[in-house]
Amino acid sequence: MFIMTRRTVLSTAAAGAAFGLASKLEFVSPAFANTPDEPEVGFYRYRVGSVEVTAVYDGIWRKPHDPAFIKNASIEDTKEALAKAGLPTEFMPIPLTVVVLKIGDRLIMMDAGSGVGQWQANATHLPANMMAAGIDYTKINTIAISHFHPDHVWGLMEKGTNAAVFPDAELIVNAAEYNWWTEPGRVEKLAEGRKPAGKRIAEVFPKWKNWRLVEDGAEVAPGVHIVAAPGHTPGHSVYLVDGGSEQLMVSADIMYVPALLAPHPEWQGAYDQDGPMAIDTRRKLVDRVIADKIAICGSHFPFPGYGTFVKDGNAYGFTPTIQA
Ligand SMILES: [Zn+2]
Repeated sequence: MFIMTRRTVLSTAAAGAAFGLASKLEFVSPAFANTPDEPEVGFYRYRVGSVEVTAVYDGIWRKPHDPAFIKNASIEDTKEALAKAGLPTEFMPIPLTVVVLKIGDRLIMMDAGSGVGQWQANATHLPANMMAAGIDYTKINTIAISHFHPDHVWGLMEKGTNAAVFPDAELIVNAAEYNWWTEPGRVEKLAEGRKPAGKRIAEVFPKWKNWRLVEDGAEVAPGVHIVAAPGHTPGHSVYLVDGGSEQLMVSADIMYVPALLAPHPEWQGAYDQDGPMAIDTRRKLVDRVIADKIAICGSHFPFPGYGTFVKDGNAYGFTPTIQA
């Protein structure tokens, strides 16, 4: 694992030399976020067959330890798992990365990021890092959304006004997710802590005309299929990207922070609405990427957020990939 210092910015050539990468790859990042640094510039570009993928760093939530965070593990257990992964243990490091796919001349953004500090004060870097990666928000054709939690959709709305950030992009989401959050009476039924987010979703999202609600298995862009992955939320979904010779699963939150859940896939996070269902989904989909030799990226994986899983007894091991 390479650990670089805060605010280090490497040129393409220097990065290539330092990491043994082909020089055509762009790699500008201090944030192989096994270090919880907050890069001002952080993106990483890789290929999945014919698809160009850009991982763009949004920031990190340094979550104070909380005994309720994992229902069936203690704070000491979670600290031990962090230490084994080489991570700091004084807080729970939850980084956030958004990927953008370039397929032909189409740009498909996978989730919208957390909205420049609307989720956590340390997650404000997405727009600047998108710009550094040469991605213009106004040119994004499609946003394929995994689920309606704030770290994944607050980037759709301007802070304060709730104005649409992507009024011209097609917004794709599993119909089950959209319908659950916008069902009449939903907000009143939510847990107290979720009510403000639920209210915002229910008030703002139905006003927009650019939603495209899809069912499990639909092709949402050339070679990109939605796969239902319920548990984290009722309509939580991942996307399978077929680049011809290679495939990638954009896995959103099924494996959340792999330092915790790869060695302990049975841990039930407070973040999972239905813990047992989330565990089933996690095992099913991670077994699938292992069996089918599919690369995987995740929203809260250590930046740049992609790699491969292997079986490790009844659990899993995660190996980050650096493309050669
Ligand atoms: Zn998340």
